[in-house]
Parts: sequence; structure tokens; C-alpha cells
Amino acid sequence: MNKLSIRDLDLAGKRVFIRADFNVPLDGNSVADDTRIRETLPTLRLAMERGGRLVLASHLGRPKGKPDPKYSLSPVAARLRELLGRPVAFAADCIGADAEAKTKALRDGDVLVLENVRYHPEEEANDPDFSRKLAALCDRVFVCDAFGSAHRAHASVVGITRYVGQAAAGLLMERELAYLGKAITNPERPFVAILGGAKVSDKIAVVRNLMHLADTMLIGGAMAYTFLKSQGLPVGKSLVENDKLELARGLLEEARQSNFRLLLPADHVLAVSPDSTETKIADVAGTPEGWMGLDVGPKTIEQFSREISGGRTIVWNGPLGMFEKPAFAKGTLAIARAVAAATARGATSIIGGGDSVAAVEQAGVARQISHISTGGGASLEFLAGEKLPGVEALTDAPRKAGTGAN
Ligand code: AMP
Repeated sequence: MNKLSIRDLDLAGKRVFIRADFNVPLDGNSVADDTRIRETLPTLRLAMERGGRLVLASHLGRPKGKPDPKYSLSPVAARLRELLGRPVAFAADCIGADAEAKTKALRDGDVLVLENVRYHPEEEANDPDFSRKLAALCDRVFVCDAFGSAHRAHASVVGITRYVGQAAAGLLMERELAYLGKAITNPERPFVAILGGAKVSDKIAVVRNLMHLADTMLIGGAMAYTFLKSQGLPVGKSLVENDKLELARGLLEEARQSNFRLLLPADHVLAVSPDSTETKIADVAGTPEGWMGLDVGPKTIEQFSREISGGRTIVWNGPLGMFEKPAFAKGTLAIARAVAAATARGATSIIGGGDSVAAVEQAGVARQISHISTGGGASLEFLAGEKLPGVEALTDAPRKAGTGAN
């Protein structure tokens, strides 16, 4: 990564504005799942050890540009207090006199959490004046650890970087960029991409980009049905995006012409509705009228697992079936285990998207995955080859001695 890192910063005695991703699920007044908070602890601890005065900002949920206690970061501050084992101050607004006074009261190693930046509509509008006000809360040093928000040009991610002297990546951001960056620039091969989930439309750009980078692509989940139908196969009541049939046909044609291995399910688990537990297994060519495909079948599991076991780089986004329902979870869980087994044999595995992450957790193999991305949307945009505004806005790293032109 050619961006400045928090490791390059001199933070002693400085107020450092850290944009974290504390967009956690709340259960009333407490944090229901603190994974995202824990993911950013190494960055916070490093800043504290270096004598920084930490000003932490994040969004949480969608409060629609106005204060709403349902989306307060106050429970996050409380959880952070427990995790860090030290006091954490809280400012009830992310800009203004109270926030300024509280940042000025910080001493080296102290921590302040600002209230939800999305209480202000200017956050999502990337408003310059609001960005300047956020920047006024630090001593011209900004650290972004919010990979999950890096695909959004918002004030606390992008706008603020204009008004600070240094904008660096936090340790979590660095780790995300290192794994995803290596996969799309210099992957160990074979590179196997697995895509699933509900909609083709969400993943067209990823399919198109990875078709030129990966060696094999395995497509499952509801999105497979748009591809299958585009080939004239019967899909019954399975979810199809009819306005994307032409596109799907074009992508398959492109794959064929470039000899790219793009595999669709050979068989699937069917039911008359997602609520039915009466299921049957059929080849995709034999899908009966009135039934819908809700999981990949045993032949597909076997074939996909074989492909995965040969991979050296494995990227997975999206479940291969409606895995929230036990009757249709088998395929997704089998794929999770196949990815974990390949990783144990030395492959690098990268998983993104809330559902695939939930699936590896459910399969009990999360710890065996090389990298679980904290940003579903951001990782998809990255894999689609798009530049993330929150990364682009960071300060370029100084060129290392010996790498410059003479
Ligand atoms: P996404 O957010 O696009 O990754 O989609 C995830 C959702 O796709 C999950 O809620 C799954 O239940 C759903 N899904 C996956 N496969 C199917 C399928 N064959 N039929 C209906 N929904 C599915």
C-alpha cells in the first residue's frame, strides 16, 4: 500500500482524529456484538502507546441526518471503556463547543468518543464546512480505520482529509488493503472466486473484474438463477432478475470466449417456498414448474469443494443458498468448511459480506480463515476494481530511499 500508515506518525501530545467503524448492532442501551470495536483496538492501543490524544468518530445505523437516541454511540463508549480498561469520555455532539472543549481537556493517551457523525446531514453530503469543523477537533492528524466506510465519500472519511496535514491508514485498514490488494494484484494461483447471494445486479462488476484476475469462478445462491435462465434452463419459481438476463448471457459468453472457468450449480435443493421444509434435489436441467432452488445440491457441493481445495487464493462473498433456514444451509456450510480446509493446507482465504462471515462462524471455522473482511460493500467495490474514495484521500506514503528515479 502506498499510503501513509499510523505507524509512520508522530502522535505524542497530539489530538488525533480516528475514524473507526463502530457501526455495531445495539440491543437497547448495550452493544449486541462488539466485533467491530475489537477489530480496531490494535489501532487505538498503538495511538495510545504513542502518546496520542484520541478523538474517535463513527457512524451507527441510519439516523437520517438528525439526532436519534436509537443510534447513539454512547453504548459504544461504554463498551470501549470495558475493553480498554480505562476511562473513555463522550461528547454528545460530534462538532461544536462541547466537543472542542472535551478534545482540549484530553491528555496523552486519553480517549474521547464523539456522537454519531450521521446525526448531521452534512456527513453524507461530504460538506466542506462540516469537514472543517471535524478537523478542528484534532491537531492536523487523521487516521482512518473504517474500511467498511471507505467506499463512501463522506465528511468524516474523505472531506476531513483536506483540512489535516496527515491522513493515514489505521492498522485494520492496512490489513484489509494488504489482503484484498494482494488478491487482485499479485495472487498466488490458482485463484478461486466464490460468489453467491441474492442479486446478480450487486455483483456484476465483481464478476466482470474477477473474470480477468481469477482462474476459476464458482457462482451459487439466488444469483445463479439469472445465469441459468439466460442459458434457457428451467428455473421454476427461483429468484431471477429478468432485466439482467441479457447481461448474464453476455458475461457467460465472454467467459466462454476467453476460456475462463466459470462454474454454475449442476444441481440444487428445491422447495415450493422458502417456508416449506419439504425439499427435493434435482439437476438444474430438471427443475420442475412451481418449485424454487434454495440451496446448491450434493453434486455441486462436491464439484465446488474440489475446485476450492485446489485453490491457493480463495475469495468468497455471498451465501450459496438461503442459509438462514436450516433446510437450505448445507451448501453454504459445506463451502465454508472447504474454504477452511484449503486454508489449513496453505491457501490464503478472504471472506467478505455479512452473510458469508455468519456462515463461517456458524460452521465453526471462522478462526481458520486467513482474513475476514469487516467491509462487505467496500470489499465488493475493491474486488470490482473500483478505487475507494476513503483510501484515495489518504496521504501518499513517502517514497522509500533507493526507489526513486535518479
Ligand atoms: P446478498 O446480500 O446479496 O449477499 O444476499 C444474501 C441473501 O441471499 C441471504 O439472505 C440468502 O438467504 C439469500 N439467498 C441465497 N441464495 C438464495 C436462493 N437460492 N434463493 C433465495 N434467496 C437466496
